[in-house]
Amino acid sequence: MDRWQNRVAVISGASSGIGAACARILVAAGLQVVGLARRADRLEKLRQSLPAEQRTRFHQQTCDVSQESQANNAFEWIEKELGGIDVLVNNAGIVLGGQLIDMPTKDISNILQTNLMGSIYCTKLATGSMIRRQVPGHLIFVNSTAGVAGYKPDPAEESLNAYTPSKFGLTAVHEICRQELIQKGSKIKTTSINPGWVATEIVPDETKAKLGEVILQADDVAQAVLYALSTPAHTQVEQITLRAVGEYF
Ligand code: NDP
Repeated sequence: MDRWQNRVAVISGASSGIGAACARILVAAGLQVVGLARRADRLEKLRQSLPAEQRTRFHQQTCDVSQESQANNAFEWIEKELGGIDVLVNNAGIVLGGQLIDMPTKDISNILQTNLMGSIYCTKLATGSMIRRQVPGHLIFVNSTAGVAGYKPDPAEESLNAYTPSKFGLTAVHEICRQELIQKGSKIKTTSINPGWVATEIVPDETKAKLGEVILQADDVAQAVLYALSTPAHTQVEQITLRAVGEYF
């Protein structure tokens, strides 16, 4: 991780779950981390919980990534205060209940606008910073097993309505970015991480109860992010699929 010391990593959705675990692990690994989320109090709580000697490497920006103007403002602040972006962990995501065929259209839009467009806004801004400064940065997408070919929802579960298309869209965004960056002659790396069930706030308690111990922890995903980042500059970890042992779907 030597080449990432004091480099700037932006993590969307850092106020809980996987994003918060990524923030902890990257701050501890020596990066400057900027956590983006809507809940300022939760970002502050995370900062306070870090060991004192690491706390100064955590920065927070209240930002709703589904709003392009808010993403623009947050990245402008990062550029000005920290000099640019070297790593982006596109992690912010939501799930809303209901079925695609009859749930309110505004809920469908909200899911797509957060999970897909929010990631696109952040990707454009981070890539722009990396290319302008000619740094071989790293784009990481926290996707899902719901976003890759072969996804078979458990018929007993409520289907993941617009969440699944948002994550399939993210798979395509990742691949398009990979190809466009090669065409530009860039050394920026891209990685998609596809977890199965993870014990975070996004998963309803009934689902957690049903899964029992067959569930990943947020730290498991953060370790995968750290692994992808820690590979040599010429090596690209393109995809990591992580499931708890015993997870069927
Ligand atoms: P959490 O609910 O714990 O975390 C979601 C994070 O996203 C929160 O920090 C939340 O912060 C943030 N967020 C949501 N909407 C926005 C927004 N509009 N702008 C900025 N931040 C936002 O769940 P997870 O940690 O599990 O989710 C993280 C990612 O992992 C998601 O993309 C999810 O799809 C993916 N994933 C999760 C799995 C699981 O089983 N848990 C499985 C596979 C993938 P705030 O509310 O403060 O804005």
